Amino acid sequence: MILSTPIEKIPNVGLAYRKRLKKIGIKTIRDLLFHLPHRYEDFSNIIRISEIKLNEPCCIQGKILEINNSSTWKKRMTLTHAVVSDKTAAPEPKQGSVRGAAIKVVWFNQPYLVRVIKPGDWVCLAGRAVIGKEGLYLSNPTYEKIFRTTRPWRGSPLATPEAAGHKLQTTNLVHTGRIVPVYPETEGLSSRWLRFIIKPLLGSLKNTIPETLPERIRKKHNLLDLKIALWQVHFPDSIALAEKAKQRFSFEELFLIELLVIKERIKLTQKKAYQISLNLPLIKKFVASLSFKLTNTQRKSAWQILKDLEKPRPMNRLLEGDVGSGKTVVATMAALNVMKAGYQVGFMAPTEILTKQHFQEVSRFLRNFNLNIGLLTGKEDKFISKKLKNDTIEISRQKILEKTAKGEIDLLIGTHTLIQDKVKFKNLALVVLDEQHRFGVEQRAKLCKNQKKQEKIIPHLLSMTATPIPRTLALTIYGDLDLSLITELPKGRKKIITKVIKPKERKKIYNFIEKEVKKGRQAFVVCPRIEPPAASQENKLDQTNYIKSGGRLSWAEVKAVKEEYEKLSKTIFPNLKVEQLYGKMTPKEKEKIMKDFKDKKTDILISTSVIEVGIDVPNATIMMIEGTERFGLAQLHQFRGRVGRSKLQSFCFLFTDSPAKKTQQRLKALLDSEDGFKLAEKDLEIRGPGDFSGTRQWGIPDLVMSSLKDISLVEKTRQAAKEILEQDPALKKYPLLQKRVEELREKVHLE
Ligand code: ADP
Ligand code: MG
Repeated sequence: MILSTPIEKIPNVGLAYRKRLKKIGIKTIRDLLFHLPHRYEDFSNIIRISEIKLNEPCCIQGKILEINNSSTWKKRMTLTHAVVSDKTAAPEPKQGSVRGAAIKVVWFNQPYLVRVIKPGDWVCLAGRAVIGKEGLYLSNPTYEKIFRTTRPWRGSPLATPEAAGHKLQTTNLVHTGRIVPVYPETEGLSSRWLRFIIKPLLGSLKNTIPETLPERIRKKHNLLDLKIALWQVHFPDSIALAEKAKQRFSFEELFLIELLVIKERIKLTQKKAYQISLNLPLIKKFVASLSFKLTNTQRKSAWQILKDLEKPRPMNRLLEGDVGSGKTVVATMAALNVMKAGYQVGFMAPTEILTKQHFQEVSRFLRNFNLNIGLLTGKEDKFISKKLKNDTIEISRQKILEKTAKGEIDLLIGTHTLIQDKVKFKNLALVVLDEQHRFGVEQRAKLCKNQKKQEKIIPHLLSMTATPIPRTLALTIYGDLDLSLITELPKGRKKIITKVIKPKERKKIYNFIEKEVKKGRQAFVVCPRIEPPAASQENKLDQTNYIKSGGRLSWAEVKAVKEEYEKLSKTIFPNLKVEQLYGKMTPKEKEKIMKDFKDKKTDILISTSVIEVGIDVPNATIMMIEGTERFGLAQLHQFRGRVGRSKLQSFCFLFTDSPAKKTQQRLKALLDSEDGFKLAEKDLEIRGPGDFSGTRQWGIPDLVMSSLKDISLVEKTRQAAKEILEQDPALKKYPLLQKRVEELREKVHLE
């Protein structure tokens, strides 16, 4: 067997398990071995039963004297009782004087154990002793059957078989008697099962695991050899070695990502782009035509972009700016410069609503500039023509495609439809991606694939995001990108008043909202889920989970959009117009609801997080968020940014029923800071990167995401990747590395 062997070929992995493994992306032996434990239990110290101490973790070995099931009808639970004794076990030399003893064991809800463990069996048990009515017992210990020999322990001077007793097994244990790996909890894949599968695999792969990292790099950064690291990460000899093994994997994964993006970047710098010279009078005219004054960082960003466009190499720039900081106008300026030089621009946004919003806003900015602007979405296709003097007309998709191919459309704005096969540009020179949360690499490639081959010209790329990405993450996923930052909001905006609301203040806030709405304002209500839970069973489970999770609220108790809609529209605000919006609605429904809200036909809009990206409703001044503990700080900050988009005073109310201290602390960060970047860093620090908004879809391994906390590791791996690529850009000398990079390319969506 080798690392790339599919899991189908692993002995003891049945169909059901294969399905469960595939569900979490494990397809090969490599994937399985790289499914790393997230913590360990140290059961390495095996003691005698007589040495067990109340409430302390322990690991003992002994013979099962009896084992039976009983059920408690009240709690509907099966209890498995057993008695285990080590009276006939051979004493270890250091514990020579310790006598054998017996102890009770109780397992909960595992009735099948009586079939697995029989009286007379020798077992190793690891867990904790607690006190019950009938004295000390081991509660739900991890068990493992062990072998015993009646051969005397060699060091024992009085070695007759009877006197020496049984020599027990202390090596080659999997679940007990050692430092035991605990894997991330996944339904149907217990740590026990994973250990059972992974251990023999490691054994059988012993000599066939080739090292991926070049020796030089491993030496320089003091990293464990792959074979050793795999053993030590799953079945460590010490916690320190497990850590060292993890370091190796963090380094490796991050290094591969860096290789991938830097390679991509090098390739790009060898490509040609249209050189578009800066038309200063045009830009001045544009700026003068605006109804507002640009902020300093808008100017600076625009300048950086316009300067990039003059270069013969494709631009690769990320424009980051908080919600409402005015990125669109900056992008429009660049687009204008490109279009007036005779080239085309493609502008892509993630949703229909946003696409239309951009179409309207950009056409408004450009109304005096005689340009043809097209809108291409899944549903409707519109077109603004200079000949028609800025009237918007609806034309067929076919017409839009034709005009784009002929170069008659200067700017085509659209959703994902833009990268479909049928869309062909004549001379696309700039691609703008709004809130794609993506790399942009593939989009750019797809957008220009249909241009004339002989030209081999790559469009410039401007990616915009309001999702504050921590620096480490940005550097990693975008490679050596250039960054422009808009760090200030337009003048005249008032600071949004943010408050954490206690349950008893709810009524007061409702009254306040009603008052504001009567003044003519509008409100958003964001809830974490769509429907209230159906089964009461789920409720019960959730309650126990609630206790286990230390106060993190269960889904069952979290506000649901539909439920909240019923409540607010019927009982709380019967006189106001309340609407609801969620992802599962058809685009048409969503569109209408958003439009009604923009047109002030609706007072209060209840929604899921679909409201998150870029919606602009300046008259909305209240953002009320339910179940705030469910969202990341950066995401909450995004919601907050939906209001405060005009000169009116805006409010953000954060509701939580979670008493957990951690929640309170997190929310406080939101009161203290308006800086999305700081909040993102804080998120990374508090919650870890697992649920960073939008990053799941990138397909970046979790290990990499968590390594991003470590800026020095990020820098080391970048440096290592650069060094190796400078000497060997195609990784010819490192075929294995090259292969892994290609595999990663498949996994990580470089879109
Ligand atoms: P975002 O960066 O969130 O995409 P937008 O580009 O949607 O922000 O801008 C938010 C609103 O602010 C828009 O209505 C835009 O016209 C307006 N705006 C942009 N720049 C300025 C400015 N310098 N002064 C005043 N309003 C501005
Ligand atoms: Mg925007």
